[in-house]
Amino acid sequence: MSDDTKKPTRKPLGLKRSVDSGEVKQTFSHGRTNKVAVEVKRRRKLVKPGEAPAPTPAPAPAPAPEAAPAPAPKPAPTPTPVAKAPAPKKPAASDETPQERVARLQREAEEERLRLAEEARKRDDQAARQAVEDEKKRAEENRKAEEAAEKQAEEDKQRVAEEAAAPPATEETSEPAADELAAAEAAETASEAAAPAPRRFTPVARPEPKKPERKKKEEKPVKTAEKPDKRRSGKLSVNKALNEDEGRRARSLAALKRAREKERRMQGGGSNKPREKQVRDVIVPEAITVQELANRMAEKGADLVKELFNLGMMVTVNQTIDQDTAELLVDQFGHNIQRVSEADVDISAEEDVDPEETLKPRPPVVTIMGHVDHGKTSLLDALRGANVVKGEAGGITQHIGSYQVKTKGGDKITFLDTPGHAAFTEMRQRGANVTDIVVLVVAADDGIMPQTIEAINHTKAAGVPMIVAINKMDKEEAKPDNIRNRLLEHEVIVEKMSGDVQDVEISAKTKAGLDELLEAISLQAELLELKANPDRMAEATVIEAQLDKGRGPVATVLVTRGTLKRGDTFVVGTQSGRVRAVVDDSGKQIKAAGPSMPVEVLGLGGVPGAGDRLTVVENEQRAREVAEYRQEKATEKRTALAPTSFDTMFNNLSSDLVEFPVLVKADVQGSVEAITTALHNLGNDLIKVRVLHAGVGAITESDVTLAAASKAPIIGFNVRPNAKARELVKRDGVEMKYFDVIYHLTDEIAKEMAGELGPERIENVVGRAAVKEVFRSGKRDKAAGLLVEEGVIRKGLHARLTREDVIVSATTIASLRRFKDDVDEVRAGLECGVVLADTNDIKAGDQLEVFEVEERERTL
Ligand code: GDP
Repeated sequence: MSDDTKKPTRKPLGLKRSVDSGEVKQTFSHGRTNKVAVEVKRRRKLVKPGEAPAPTPAPAPAPAPEAAPAPAPKPAPTPTPVAKAPAPKKPAASDETPQERVARLQREAEEERLRLAEEARKRDDQAARQAVEDEKKRAEENRKAEEAAEKQAEEDKQRVAEEAAAPPATEETSEPAADELAAAEAAETASEAAAPAPRRFTPVARPEPKKPERKKKEEKPVKTAEKPDKRRSGKLSVNKALNEDEGRRARSLAALKRAREKERRMQGGGSNKPREKQVRDVIVPEAITVQELANRMAEKGADLVKELFNLGMMVTVNQTIDQDTAELLVDQFGHNIQRVSEADVDISAEEDVDPEETLKPRPPVVTIMGHVDHGKTSLLDALRGANVVKGEAGGITQHIGSYQVKTKGGDKITFLDTPGHAAFTEMRQRGANVTDIVVLVVAADDGIMPQTIEAINHTKAAGVPMIVAINKMDKEEAKPDNIRNRLLEHEVIVEKMSGDVQDVEISAKTKAGLDELLEAISLQAELLELKANPDRMAEATVIEAQLDKGRGPVATVLVTRGTLKRGDTFVVGTQSGRVRAVVDDSGKQIKAAGPSMPVEVLGLGGVPGAGDRLTVVENEQRAREVAEYRQEKATEKRTALAPTSFDTMFNNLSSDLVEFPVLVKADVQGSVEAITTALHNLGNDLIKVRVLHAGVGAITESDVTLAAASKAPIIGFNVRPNAKARELVKRDGVEMKYFDVIYHLTDEIAKEMAGELGPERIENVVGRAAVKEVFRSGKRDKAAGLLVEEGVIRKGLHARLTREDVIVSATTIASLRRFKDDVDEVRAGLECGVVLADTNDIKAGDQLEVFEVEERERTL
């Protein structure tokens, strides 16, 4: 039963409709041809289906008898109540025929509807309620009437029951249907009048099935109760429906209120929108994508792009902008910028200040500057007491060491040997202000030269005190006073001219005046009160770094504070590492290095840049973390746009300046800097060199790719491409230029730029071999046992010996042997022995590259 009832309640329309339509016909057969009746029947069926399968037959007049049996099986007694129900209706019908009642009700309803329509629509709800109440009353009256009728019917039944229960039951079943119809109609019309459309559906459909359901379940056993319930359910359902409707409406009103409140709250939030514009502190790193900046400001990325466009920059949300541009945007949107630099995020050296009591005096760090050939290297050399000048290729200071000397008074002084003011300034640009005192070397026999003036300006710009060393005093033509006078023109007033700049007359050659110079430096250092805390984890600045043959990446660093010890874990630039060895200026391994001490550090993960800060950290993990973070930042920075502005775009379009792009790779940082500076100096108003990239180490694939994309030659200074890069060079036809003397390099580039090109020197590599072992050959020479890996090795050809892609020597094949026999050539796959001309620096594991040189007229 419950299943049955449930089903109909849930799917009443589908099932019942079909049934309804049948009933419609039946009602017709009943003789009630009213259209109204048709509508009512539908509803009624809805009621009935809820009751049981009975409904189907029940409404049918013809199978009316069946209807009785149908409900009978379960509620056998139901017929009786059913009989009761119809009975009262009969009388009711007799008082006023259903048709009449319907007509009346319709009329009333129509009137009421009109009246209601006239009334203010705003009061619809209230009117509806009144109407509902009216209906209730009416229904109430009807019910009373019916109940009265029921009583009569019961009495009648009791009388008739004696004869037979069935016949009256059939009559009754059919009749109550009619009654119910009428009642339902009345209710419906009334409800229609009150609230036309919605009510018609809601009350009829829902309440009817529900009530019967409940009642059936609850009152199954009570047969008598069931039928009246059903009847009531039919009638009452309307009221209840209305009540429910009201209830529902009330509920919905409450819900509406809640919804409105919510909305208001939401709107409240919305009205706070201006508050969203509340000033935010936007943390901006050195480079940030537009989208990320938008997120941090809680603004739309598109708005930022628009704003940038208004500022004349064309960027997309995914592009990276620099801190300055970001600041413009942040200001524009009314927020506060908090600039964050790498140091803030990873290791903050600035905030980590040593307390005054921990500071101890440290030696001064001195840089020697001056015009070329005025004797800088000679002076450094004289001070160090070793002969460095002779070993230089091309006569230009390249392999730079820094060292400490002791004065007679026992003070230490650190000398940085750099190629001049360019490197000094570059270091300064990178925030590595390591120089405490500048010694300006001026040759007494020459005078104030362009680079002297530049050195003066750079020193002044850095705010570093200067000491003038008037060199070459051993020369007869030395005119030191002339120098002093000339210096006045550049606002350098030396002590002898009553100024405060110390001046010392020296001779790097005879070493005269060197002690005086050292004294002057000590005096200056005392005035500066240089101090540092030696008892802490070390910090140092990279003076230069290189990829060393055999030792891997090596950095010369100057300890700025703390003490650097072997075994320390550190971060330097984007590299991390662990100090494998600390080597002092005399090449000795030491255990620790204190402030102002220049040392070589081994154990780096890669080659850092000059000016990078080396920081010792607590453990390896931290070192790796910081290094990774910095690598990320470095990548971001590299890809950051100097956003294209319309101005620069048009400038570039209109400019007829020719750029000569190059890539520079060299074995040491000093060379890289010297080369880039030299190349920049080659330019004029019409043409200039553009160094796309410059770095230390072997020529790599990425270098070749960049060169190929930019149609730029790669300048290799004492370095060669690695194997993969070589392949790419061949494939992409990238022009390679190898040099080992800077002025050869600048000469050739200058010629090329000027179009004064001599015959093209073309290298054809004919073979490559690996050095397997090294053995003595004759009294002095060393021979190398080779395995030819590629091509052929031929006697007399040019050869280049490389160790980890760094050129060790450029030479020729002096002799070539195979099994003690001299041979002219050895092919790939075979072993052989060679003696290289002019070199004995050969080690197992070195690579030998053999090439022919062809000179060809250039075609432009
Ligand atoms: P740098 O280019 O400034 O490093 O100059 P160098 O140290 O290479 O010196 C250039 C030339 O000047 C060399 O030939 C030195 O021998 C020479 N020289 C340097 N100092 C003196 C000096 O005090 N007296 C003399 N007579 N020659 C010097």
